[in-house]
Amino acid sequence: MPRTVNVLVTVALERTYTYAVPDGLSLRVGDVVVVPFGPRLMLGVVWEGVPEPIDGKKLKAVERKLDGHLDATMRRFVSWVADYTVTPPGQVLRMVLRVPGALLPEKPVLALRLAGPPPDRLTEARRRVLDVLGHGEARTKAALAEAARVSTSVVDGLVEAGTLRQVELPPEPLVPPPDPDRPHKALTESQEEAAEALSGPAAEGGFEVTLLEGVTGSGKTEVYFEAVAAALKAGRQVLVLVPEISLTGQFLERFEARFGARPAEWHSDATPKARERTWRGVASGEVRAVAGARSALFLPFRELGLIVVDEEHDPAYKQEDGVIYNARDMAVVRGMLSEIPVVLSSATPSVESRANAQKGRYRHITLHERFAMPMPDITAIDMRTEGPERGRWLAPALVKAIAEETGHGRQALLFLNRRGYAPLTLCRKCGYRFECPNCSAWLVEHRFRGTLACHHCGFETGRPDKCPNCAAEHSLVPCGPGVERVAEEAMSLFPDRRVLILSSDVVASLADLRERFAVVERGEADIVIGTQLVAKGHNFPHLSVVGVVDADLGLASADPRAAERTFQLLQQVTGRAGRGLHEGRAFVQTFEPSHPVMAAIVSGDKDGFYERELEARARQGLPPFGRLAALVVSANAREQAVAHAKAMALAVPSGDVRVLGPADAPLAVIRGRHRLRFLVKAPRGLDMAAFIRAWLSASPKPAGNVRVSVDIDPVSFL
Ligand code: ADP
Ligand code: ZN
Repeated sequence: MPRTVNVLVTVALERTYTYAVPDGLSLRVGDVVVVPFGPRLMLGVVWEGVPEPIDGKKLKAVERKLDGHLDATMRRFVSWVADYTVTPPGQVLRMVLRVPGALLPEKPVLALRLAGPPPDRLTEARRRVLDVLGHGEARTKAALAEAARVSTSVVDGLVEAGTLRQVELPPEPLVPPPDPDRPHKALTESQEEAAEALSGPAAEGGFEVTLLEGVTGSGKTEVYFEAVAAALKAGRQVLVLVPEISLTGQFLERFEARFGARPAEWHSDATPKARERTWRGVASGEVRAVAGARSALFLPFRELGLIVVDEEHDPAYKQEDGVIYNARDMAVVRGMLSEIPVVLSSATPSVESRANAQKGRYRHITLHERFAMPMPDITAIDMRTEGPERGRWLAPALVKAIAEETGHGRQALLFLNRRGYAPLTLCRKCGYRFECPNCSAWLVEHRFRGTLACHHCGFETGRPDKCPNCAAEHSLVPCGPGVERVAEEAMSLFPDRRVLILSSDVVASLADLRERFAVVERGEADIVIGTQLVAKGHNFPHLSVVGVVDADLGLASADPRAAERTFQLLQQVTGRAGRGLHEGRAFVQTFEPSHPVMAAIVSGDKDGFYERELEARARQGLPPFGRLAALVVSANAREQAVAHAKAMALAVPSGDVRVLGPADAPLAVIRGRHRLRFLVKAPRGLDMAAFIRAWLSASPKPAGNVRVSVDIDPVSFL
């Protein structure tokens, strides 16, 4: 009998597979391997469990072993996430092994150094190369050619002549190690207390979750940096999750100012090479600190000692496709499995984390005061009586404040969570509305690009001159504002002010976006118009007035989290005012100033808001008092989706669970896929994943192009 092992293969299947171990290869559980799977070679990991006996003829052998290894904690984490999210474990494993280059031996850097006498024919170009290369020094070919201002063929010639020789260099360290012993800012008394409370566990280890809650600008980052320092001093690695890569620019600088070196970055915009090196450095222990987006949670840290989730309430932590998971919640799971502390930081915690803190499941540390400036003064503008004239979006009171503040050289920020120029374009003659051909959504005009675009599938078309329906000329009118339209109004009101848009679609690259943020930080823009991008933890020292253009925007939906989301967004964005050099004020334009969310924002009664929201959730059995899941059935044809959803409805297991639907999803068509949705409500103690597994196995298998996606703890209800 050949030796066999159990392998979890990176495919979306529930089970592990048995493979033979070739003679001479030694394998441990956790080793990364390449195995034949069907007609292809796939990555996998040797997994626990006794391999199922398998017919000798069918038994295939492990192709080879790679460099990587997943320790027991990491393997348990993969299984845990798969189990909780109702995803095949191989699909979760694929997220861990997404950097195949990191699993091969690292290629050495090839460099050139002096090795022989100068060549007989010493041209001017060749002399420059030799001048650049000091004795014993080695440089890569490209670096050498650039420094000497010659083409690489000149360098090649010197190698041929025997003057230069190729040598292998060890790769430069990705990032220098952070130094936790550098002096830090003197903390205030309450900051110091909070820092000490976090540092103890970070030094000692052990699982514990702390909610670090403090108003915007209270110094939460300074405080959790001390926990980071404590973990680093204890010889452990640190992971800081940030919700938005645009935010990391400022974060990296602050980290460097505190620790003398940047953390390694992990996000989808990093080059494959950088990701490869980070993966390897994290696994080997060379990298001590990582700042990253949610997927950084799946890096194979060798000795992780602390996880910080910055802006823990942020919906960007939810991954909405592939493996649907919330990185905030999975960070807590990873902390539990690794037996290390987790810090959740926010000025506006999620209702769930707030409830966990109140119940004593999480430790709760609060910072009540801003470090420098008092909290901004917030005023509601009643758009029914104090609004602007038709076709304008900025109320007189807000315009006056912008004029005053920018007149004193300070900055204004106008917030509208809508990209583009106008969310809807229609024909004044026949009423025709521009709709996406692939989605049940209007096309959004983007005037700078001159297009009409769908924000769900990326469809774009030029804006026509005539109505495509009735051929009327000059009849198309934009309805409602997006950031571009507000910028247009600001420019016409304040022609001598510098107006800047901060929105993901007006920038060409991450570097471009970071540069725009830096421009605002340096005070080189007077009026900034931004989407939710600007609501996330940025520090704009010159900003003294914030205007929320349409505070009611998020409240219209039937989303059970609409109130929470709107409260967080408004609190975060108004909290950008007056964080640095000047006192701040904020204006909230609303048609419903008496709405509880608006009232809480204006009065600053955060505790009152959470209390009311928790009461409402308790009444409705919504999280955190009950559990929620969404299942979306989709298909290319509506009839197919309906038929499958109806069959599923008949298979719902009986028990203490309410299944609502199927009903058309709020976005009934996306990318040509018709969507029906079930909402599952269950009591808190129920094992939602087990219920859904039982349901799915009692339902017919989706056939053809029908798909069923499972979203446990949904945060978006599209
Ligand atoms: P938060 O994360 O709570 O919004 P930050 O940590 O970003 O707050 O702090 C807000 C600003 O105040 C930052 O510019 C920070 O450097 C500064 N700050 C906070 N605490 C101190 C301190 N003790 N000494 C000096 N500057 C501080
Ligand atoms: Zn579309």
